[in-house]
Amino acid sequence: MRKLLRRLFGLGAPKAAKATKTTTTTTTTDWSALALSRLSYLADLSEPERARALGHLNAIANGVPFVGADGLEITEEMVVVISGTAARLSRNLPLSTWQHLRRITVTPAHLAMHGSDDIVFGLASSTGEVTLSWNAVTHGLRNPLDGHDTALHEFAHILDVGDGLFDGIPPGHAPDHHGWAHGLARGFVRFQMKANKGLKRRNVMRAYGATNAAEFFAVATEAFFEKPRQLKRAKPDVYQALSRYYRIDPLRKRR
Ligand SMILES: [Zn+2]
Repeated sequence: MRKLLRRLFGLGAPKAAKATKTTTTTTTTDWSALALSRLSYLADLSEPERARALGHLNAIANGVPFVGADGLEITEEMVVVISGTAARLSRNLPLSTWQHLRRITVTPAHLAMHGSDDIVFGLASSTGEVTLSWNAVTHGLRNPLDGHDTALHEFAHILDVGDGLFDGIPPGHAPDHHGWAHGLARGFVRFQMKANKGLKRRNVMRAYGATNAAEFFAVATEAFFEKPRQLKRAKPDVYQALSRYYRIDPLRKRR
């Protein structure tokens, strides 16, 4: 099974990073029970959708190396919560969507950035590596409606960069496909123009989304999952584009 997952994700054997600990399981584990107790979004899904989400969660938890940095020891809860957040995004997409996800590194607090005073809570690299502050992940979990979730944000970047480019356009979504230009790209231009004039405090999206098209996609994804009603009202084109891409309508009642 592990071999199968590794083939599925195109992963080699996990390399142990210096001064870090990597989870090394020899058998696959079914994390579903722990997931159901820790991830409230699963309870809101229809039966088939929950099964797909748990399938993605288990595949990521068993197939992607988790690395603890800065002395952090990886726990089962970390593996389940973080994999489950990725699965929340991808549950209706093919599992191969994550084939370039190589490694998940977890730090206790914020990330140390060389030569910068910026406080960073998450990173996603073009080589498929995600780094997350566990503090930020749990903060996101405790505040599911504030439109800010570091793990959702970084995994959205990983989906975006599946074609090698951080451009706000995930693979298979050329700008003229599926109304992408109408939805996301136009939404970005409008948002950036508004941000230049100064956003109202109550904007459904964080101002950081005006940085570039890639950040717009990631910040819009956070709002899509955490503030769907407000996003649909304020930016219906953006909502529709994300709904088409993720094949999810967060406002639809459970079937
Ligand atoms: Zn970002």
